[in-house]
Amino acid sequence: MTHSADTSADADAQFTQPVYHESDADRRHITDKTVAVLGYGSQGHAHAQNLADSGVDVVVGLREDSSSRKAAEADGLRVTTPVEAASQADVVSVLVPDTVQPSVFEAIEPELDAGDTLQFAHGFNVHYGQIEPPERVDVTMIAPKSPGHLVRRNYEAGEGTPALLAVYQDATGEARQEALAYADAIGCARAGVVETTFREETETDLFGEQAVLCGGVAELTKAGYETLVDAGYSPEMAYFECLNELKLIVDLMYEGGIGAMWDSVSDTAEYGGLTRGEAVVDESVRENMEEVLEEVQNGAFATEWVAENQAGRPSYKQRRKAEQEHDIEDVGERLRSLFAWAEDETESEAEREPEVSADD
Ligand code: NAD
Ligand code: MG
Repeated sequence: MTHSADTSADADAQFTQPVYHESDADRRHITDKTVAVLGYGSQGHAHAQNLADSGVDVVVGLREDSSSRKAAEADGLRVTTPVEAASQADVVSVLVPDTVQPSVFEAIEPELDAGDTLQFAHGFNVHYGQIEPPERVDVTMIAPKSPGHLVRRNYEAGEGTPALLAVYQDATGEARQEALAYADAIGCARAGVVETTFREETETDLFGEQAVLCGGVAELTKAGYETLVDAGYSPEMAYFECLNELKLIVDLMYEGGIGAMWDSVSDTAEYGGLTRGEAVVDESVRENMEEVLEEVQNGAFATEWVAENQAGRPSYKQRRKAEQEHDIEDVGERLRSLFAWAEDETESEAEREPEVSADD
């Protein structure tokens, strides 16, 4: 695995990892190549259109019966099958769902010539050995740190979306420069491209979504809600205090860090939070987090998830159903209908995403 920044690019000195900008990128590393974008979902539609608008030769690879074909063609792009796209391309950007990537890879592997590039937007399959790329190709990652519709919208507005860059395998000696040129062509170098590794990106991504973002926040929210309701308070009040206001708090943290949040809330909220937060998320929670991290690091989670998919997702479906049936969802649905403005915002957000069916 290559990690040393053996590039002439002049990275920012104030970060622990190299950070690249437009001036570090040489577009010619990508504009003289054909890029196959496999998949036309959240990331795929944004990468394909941004690359094409930057003058890169793009071919989109989709299954014959894919409902995304119409969208890609309507956007003026050349569309063919994943296998045909890979055979035409020098760079194959794998932007189909992570769970279907291994089978797509199996189909396109014979089309990868020596010196071609296999590129990803997430490291899961390569890091956990679900995809074993041949030694003859470069293997890189450009992972924008936002959903695809923002990658596209920012590009059109002349702005950028920060991205991660990683080089897993450098067969040509030019893998990093080519990845950086790709990041530049989709607009990410306008904002900044941070270098990482497949291992670091994959493990921090899984840990973050399990312990803090998705798993942690959902459980914390439900636990707070249940504590209030079990103590006899109304579900409506419990919903407002434990779920609805979460957005206001997270927005403040997003904009100005945890300090901006403490600055904006009342002194009573600040004192109460500072003294009681540690009592809730105590040492035992940190120990639980370490266990979650260990299962990410030793591959136990990845093995479990791959097996779960092979079995048709029985546990996933069951847990998803139970989650949907929780009281807080019912109360929430009724309360949110009081806020027409909130619904309008959600709708227009959804409209910006191209329609994609999960099993397509
Ligand atoms: P998505 O689910 O939005 O889109 C998947 C696309 O793949 C669809 O166009 C679908 O038509 C196509 N597809 C599905 N099965 C296919 C098959 N068998 N053959 C060919 N095409 C097929 O996916 P996404 O969220 O854009 O994720 C793509 C990659 O980007 C993943 O590795 C993901 O981890 C990564 N990523 C996603 C985001 C995000 O915000 N969505 C952010 C960073 C990285
Ligand atoms: Mg090829």
